[in-house]
Amino acid sequence: MPVVAGQDRYPLERIMKFRSTLFQFFLPPQCPCCEKFLEEDRQGFCSNCLSEIRWIVPPFCSVCGIPFMSKEIESHPCGACASHRKYFTMARALGTFEGSLQEAIHRWKYEGKTHLTAFFAEWMAEGLNRFWERDSLDLLIPVPLHRQRLRERGFNQALLLAKELSRRTGLPYQKSILQKKEPTIPQVKLSGIEREKGLRRTFHVVEKEKLLGKSVLLVDDVYTTGATVNECSKVLLKGGAGRVDVLTLAHAIKSS
Ligand SMILES: [Zn+2]
Ligand SMILES: [Zn+2]
Repeated sequence: MPVVAGQDRYPLERIMKFRSTLFQFFLPPQCPCCEKFLEEDRQGFCSNCLSEIRWIVPPFCSVCGIPFMSKEIESHPCGACASHRKYFTMARALGTFEGSLQEAIHRWKYEGKTHLTAFFAEWMAEGLNRFWERDSLDLLIPVPLHRQRLRERGFNQALLLAKELSRRTGLPYQKSILQKKEPTIPQVKLSGIEREKGLRRTFHVVEKEKLLGKSVLLVDDVYTTGATVNECSKVLLKGGAGRVDVLTLAHAIKSS
């Protein structure tokens, strides 16, 4: 049988990830951003990298949550949200997607540093309690990843967050209600309008009865242009959800 290049690659990547997990077990913990070794009892970010994270605080867009530069104004819908319909009611993120947070998310997603999930989920659980009344939400739904992408990466980062968030808040999560059909062209190569076009008919809802009238919190790692979560929200509302909100770990600030 001919060997197809792509077939061999993924098991090898998994072995490498497993080996790096083994090494992490024997070495003192390292900061995921600068790789500085930490004191024995410390986990996650070093104090230097932690202090570099720009946490999102008011004022910010009351719809998409993007922080405003001027601190003198009150939170209100930003220009993009005022001119372009958003299907979700409000999106919130913990920090801006830059510097050490961006670096850590990159390592978590592409270098298999999955032990970071616990830290990220802890921050997101705190954000969930700050931005929403816990009882106003019924269900956590992760933004799905297409099967091919899932094979390449080995995990869906949004699902990891939703699971951990569910454990911390007691809110149930549903990973199969919202599904992704076909792989889209990598989003970084597309403009905002092209992204929206490419996303149409990409997501669909199954098991509608589980969604009926529910207040959904859509979970993802990064809010980039908002095109993905907006499309997911549209599909969820059409599928019977009563309301959709969005919580991400980070919000990209340059592209909006
Ligand atoms: Zn560091
Ligand atoms: Zn906005």
